[in-house]
Amino acid sequence: MLDGYADVFGLTNFSKVPGKKLRLRAHLVPVITKPPHFAPQFAWHSEIDFPVVDARGFSSPTEQGQFLFYGLCHELGHVIAMWGDTKDEEDRHAWAHYTGVVLVEELSKRKLPALEKARDGKWRSLAKEREELVKEPVEAKERERWKRMKAFVGVHDLVGARAVGEAINAMEAAGKVLRVNRVRYYRVGDFEEAVCATEAGRKKVKELRGVIGGK
Ligand SMILES: [Zn+2]
Repeated sequence: MLDGYADVFGLTNFSKVPGKKLRLRAHLVPVITKPPHFAPQFAWHSEIDFPVVDARGFSSPTEQGQFLFYGLCHELGHVIAMWGDTKDEEDRHAWAHYTGVVLVEELSKRKLPALEKARDGKWRSLAKEREELVKEPVEAKERERWKRMKAFVGVHDLVGARAVGEAINAMEAAGKVLRVNRVRYYRVGDFEEAVCATEAGRKKVKELRGVIGGK
C-alpha cells in the first residue's frame, strides 16, 4: 500500500525518520472493536494500530462490515500528511479519506494476490465519493468536511494525483512543514500555492483556486 502511495501520488517522503521503518502494530483480536488507528501521539511516530481477526488471511470488509483495507489506506494518509496543527486540523479529516478512496480504487484495479479478498472498492472508491459529494450536508461540521473533500477531489480531477504528490514534495523541499513528534503537518494555503506551481497546475491556476476556495 505504501508502494501504492509512492506510485499513485509520486510521493518521495513518508512521515518517518529517513531510513527508519513504518511501524504497523497488527494485533490478533477475537473481535474487532476499534478500526485501524494512527495517532501522532503514539510512542513510535509512524505507528499504526491495526487489529486483525485472522492471522493468515486478510479479508475485507469483515463479516461485521469493517473496512480494513480502506481503513489502512485511510490511516496511511494520516501518516503521510496531517493539516494545520494539533489544535486546528485544517483538512477537517478529509485528506485521509480522499487518499484512502484513491488508493482503494487504484489498488483494486491491479488485482494484487495479497488483496484478493479485499472488496472494499465496491463501497469505498473515488467514483462513489464523487456521487456522494453532489449532496451538500445540512449540519455545519459535516459541511466543513464536505467542502474540504470537494476541494481535494476537485484538485485531483483537475490535475491528478501525481500533481497532488508533487505539491506535497515541493512543500517538504521548501520547509513549509511543521513537525509534531516527527509527523508532518502542512497548511492548506501552502498546498494551494504549491499545487498551482506544479507543471499540470500552472495551466489551471484559476480553476484550482476556485475549487480550493470552495467555489
Ligand atoms: Zn482518520
